[in-house]
Amino acid sequence: MNTLDTLAFDNRYARLPETFYSRVRPRGFARPQLVAFNPEVAALLDLDPAEATRAEFAACFGGQRLPAGSDPIAMKYTGHQFGVYNPELGDGRGLLLGQVRNTRGEYWDLHLKGAGPTPYSRFGDGRAVLRSCIREYLGGEAMHGLGIPTTRALCIIGSDEPVQRETVETGAMLLRVADSHIRFGHFEWLFHSGEHAALRDFADQVIAWHFPQLAGRPGAHRDFFAEVTARTARLMAQWQLAGFAHGVMNSDNFSITGATFDYGPFGFLDAYAPGFICNHSDHQGRYAWHRQPSIGLWNLNALAHALSGLIARDDLVAILQDYEPELIRHYDAGLRAKLGLKREQPGDRELSIAYLELLMKEGADYTRSFRRLAGVGRAEEKPALRDDFVDREAFDAWCRLYQARLQAEAASDTERAAQMNAVNPKYVLRNYMAQVAIDRAQQGDFSEIETLRQLLAKPFDEQPAQERYAALPPDWGRHLEISCSS
Ligand code: AMP
Ligand code: MG
Repeated sequence: MNTLDTLAFDNRYARLPETFYSRVRPRGFARPQLVAFNPEVAALLDLDPAEATRAEFAACFGGQRLPAGSDPIAMKYTGHQFGVYNPELGDGRGLLLGQVRNTRGEYWDLHLKGAGPTPYSRFGDGRAVLRSCIREYLGGEAMHGLGIPTTRALCIIGSDEPVQRETVETGAMLLRVADSHIRFGHFEWLFHSGEHAALRDFADQVIAWHFPQLAGRPGAHRDFFAEVTARTARLMAQWQLAGFAHGVMNSDNFSITGATFDYGPFGFLDAYAPGFICNHSDHQGRYAWHRQPSIGLWNLNALAHALSGLIARDDLVAILQDYEPELIRHYDAGLRAKLGLKREQPGDRELSIAYLELLMKEGADYTRSFRRLAGVGRAEEKPALRDDFVDREAFDAWCRLYQARLQAEAASDTERAAQMNAVNPKYVLRNYMAQVAIDRAQQGDFSEIETLRQLLAKPFDEQPAQERYAALPPDWGRHLEISCSS
């Protein structure tokens, strides 16, 4: 177990040429305060959780002093924002403190979000607000609990520093922990600035760090792009299956390792509405929920373009063509599992889609409608789920087909219910839940953040004491407007 002073830093990114970043010191908060601490992430870093109770902890991750061995840098990258290339990007309000290597040999990036201005801040103040740090902290835990690759966070440090957004809020810092902070946009930066030799070296380095099984092999660049494509396809399938909407799928917010990255105005579906736009500032709906799979491909196209000096055009095209079938394979298998169908049969896809259409017409709750499906017995006349639907006849018609299909399954109703409950979460991070935690935190009560962290760590379990979080969202919580500003 390490203390703050003995974390095992091995800052390999900072050993890249200095054109890749700028060395920047954090601008600390005058009165940093511990808001949230995540013992699971501390364990990833071999950090003794008792460290969080020391005043130095808040001072450290509130930017006042640095953890021993860190070497803070702002990374340079670019990317496509809402379809337009922006050459001016980079870490504008976050610093990569370095990599910690744990006793299992894993490397974890420590990134302090909200640490003050950098050369890439442009018009921004370099800060993050408490509201957005809480959302990112809980978003990462919710996704991790669902088994979806994601960045996470060790802690949130609050302050009394005023930060102007739509209203005056207070600044906070989030210590983000990720397998990588390398974005599609890193490659776009090198390509579009004509740094072709550096791009080749960087690609080799990224392969050595994150895809070591490919390092030094013939065709490594091609296989690397194929792997990034496959991981992105699977991630998009997982987002769709979970009803997760990212909100700002710019290519600088896409991780090269296929992890969910850079939580902004994200949201989970309440009612099943495929056109759901979680980002109030996304007027065209470019990142609407049902467009996410195609935007994943769009971003991979941008990456393919950036890699066109390393990989033959025909290979790039062939790999991109594999994206859709890979995504659909995972999505279909996931949907079948959500319906409790173990043995694939013709017609399964149509049956699943018909359920989704039913939910859409009803405006039924996505998470709850799948969770409660497990309670439908194959011979049950009027399952409890029926009462969730206004158009009972439409439900009955679909349910008859579903029950007929269940006859072909070997598992008993009880066994199938258990299997379904392991893939259909009971609890997701609904916007209103995050909002309650935020409102209380802004009043100085941080307990709801910890309650939700523990809840979302086990989203598939029955948690009888927490039943209220499985209910439909309150009316005020259905139409919260979440903007880009964070
Ligand atoms: P995001 O929308 O959070 O992914 O940020 C897009 C770009 O804007 C990144 O280069 C960020 O570092 C930068 N940025 C966002 N907010 C701020 C801010 N408050 N101050 C400085 N830079 C920012
Ligand atoms: Mg970003």
